[in-house]
Amino acid sequence: MRAWLKRWREKRTLARRAIPDALWALTLARFHFLSWRSAADVARLRDMATLFLADKEFSGAHGLAIDDEMAVAIAAQACLPVLELGLDWYDGFKGVVVHADAVLAQREFVDAAGVVHEYEEELSGEAMHGGPVMLAWRDVADAGDSAGEGYNVVVHEFVHVLDMRDGTPDGVPPLPDRAARAAWVEVLKAEYDAFRERIDAAEDTLLDPYAAEAPEEFFAVASEAFFVAPRDLRAEHPRLYELLRGFFRQNPAAHS
Ligand SMILES: [Zn+2]
Repeated sequence: MRAWLKRWREKRTLARRAIPDALWALTLARFHFLSWRSAADVARLRDMATLFLADKEFSGAHGLAIDDEMAVAIAAQACLPVLELGLDWYDGFKGVVVHADAVLAQREFVDAAGVVHEYEEELSGEAMHGGPVMLAWRDVADAGDSAGEGYNVVVHEFVHVLDMRDGTPDGVPPLPDRAARAAWVEVLKAEYDAFRERIDAAEDTLLDPYAAEAPEEFFAVASEAFFVAPRDLRAEHPRLYELLRGFFRQNPAAHS
């Protein structure tokens, strides 16, 4: 689409379909971490959430009805990571599927002896390359309360979307050049390895032990804390905080 046409359409969407004042105020009150920025940035987040709602297709699983409150809650949190990067980072998918509660997924893996093991995994969210983002509403709705533990399912899944923009999820999002990529890999790997050692030693950590599963989970889990418990992340992982600050071009700890 031509740039001027895109801008014109966006202006029209913002004029016609702006999130109502009362609903936006309610959303900020429920999810206090959305307001940890300047008034101008919060206003821009509202505009981005409006454009996100116009562009994405929400559907409720198993007959779940998605009302405006739910859609705005998801859109506002989803736009947080791309506030400075731009909504284009999300143009690789259309669908947002909302389940009432966590989903049990059937998984299997083959061990070294060739034996197939089947197990169930409880998912509160899932992101697939080019596919829909799945979220459990219960976890989304709890995001105000669970922020203190650095937990946020929407940020987690949408950071996977950013990570997958260059193909496989590997903990390395698209970066401007090779030097930036090398610097990213160095810091992330060092932080990830040190974190795994702490988990192996059964230490208490700010980040959920799930972050030790893989570099891409470490990136997603650390990003949750970056946006909803930024001071805690900065205190426990100063290098990681700076890495994420550079990537997201935001400094939430300065305002929280
Ligand atoms: Zn994940």
